[in-house]
Amino acid sequence: MSTQIELQRHLKDRSYYEELYDKITIDHCKRWEDCYRKMDIDDLCKKTKSTKKEAISSLSGFCNMHMWFEKGARAAEKEERIQEWINADKALDKLLEDSIEPRTFCTKCDRLMQLRYKRVEKDYDNSNNDKVIFLLQCPDCEGRKWVYEDGTEREPYKRLCEKCSSEMEHAGEKMTKKMVKTTYKCTKCEHKEVDELDLSEEDPKEKEKELAEFMKDKARYCLDEKGLQEYKEGRDNLKRMEELVKEFKKDDDIRPQLKEIEKLSVASLEKKLKATLRRKGFDKLRTSEPKVDKYITVDVKLRDAKEDREEYQSKQDLKHAVEKTLEKTNWSLMTTGISYRLGVLECSLKGHDSEDQIKELVRSREKKAAKKR
Ligand SMILES: [Zn+2]
Ligand SMILES: [Zn+2]
Repeated sequence: MSTQIELQRHLKDRSYYEELYDKITIDHCKRWEDCYRKMDIDDLCKKTKSTKKEAISSLSGFCNMHMWFEKGARAAEKEERIQEWINADKALDKLLEDSIEPRTFCTKCDRLMQLRYKRVEKDYDNSNNDKVIFLLQCPDCEGRKWVYEDGTEREPYKRLCEKCSSEMEHAGEKMTKKMVKTTYKCTKCEHKEVDELDLSEEDPKEKEKELAEFMKDKARYCLDEKGLQEYKEGRDNLKRMEELVKEFKKDDDIRPQLKEIEKLSVASLEKKLKATLRRKGFDKLRTSEPKVDKYITVDVKLRDAKEDREEYQSKQDLKHAVEKTLEKTNWSLMTTGISYRLGVLECSLKGHDSEDQIKELVRSREKKAAKKR
């Protein structure tokens, strides 16, 4: 038979958790600000080789930026943390509600003991070890016991003397409007100890002052909905910027070469080739219809104008001339090579259009050049 007893409740109003979270945020931010305030400016001047004015200015700029991050991060986590706290307290309530006191008999009277009170004993390191402890009382002799759900009894608390470590005993209580004084005296020596429990209510003026302080700090350190939104946007912008910088830096090694690349259309390619190849003794240059695929390819047909040039020399000269002409353009000679029949030469050119293709081209040229070096 279980007696109706009042259960201790863990779950509180939402405002309790919000206030608690804000108070931790305020504490956290104030501690950081304190760190900056206590920094050794002279030392900073020496290390950064700057004047006092410069050091103070950059330190305050850095502090502001850091605080912006701290406040934002705290605000961004608020909802999730509060939900965790609420869930943890709900779990404690459930643990307590579902617990059943073990059947325990009075060691003196052999009567079934009755439940007087129960509460959760928290294990702050591991909530899985939280357990319920029951206060049971014998209906006859009124003897009491603290037991856990599995029936094990908790050792009664012994207060030990500070002087001789002997057990102390309760020696009376004095109660006034504002205070309860409980006295304990040592069973061996003369030592006495008094516990004081303050019952006086907090001064309303003091309370008001505290609240005003809290509201002021809250406005300074705890972001509201709008502030949080601004923080999130700012944070996301920074992230994007970081990625841009990373992307930009990725091509740092070939940036000068990329800048030099002349992007030619098929028409300007033909014009350029005609002009330079004629000087090397090749004429009648014709280009085919460009093939548009991942890359643009163009077949080039032309005639060797030097009658005494042999096939091998002709092909070599054309190769060098084409490569030299295309050197700083988005076009390259295809590896299929150059064909030669009765003074008519043919080759294919590959056009690089997109930024990635051009980067790839520049990189492959750099590799070739490095091999020659
Ligand atoms: Zn009893
Ligand atoms: Zn003692």
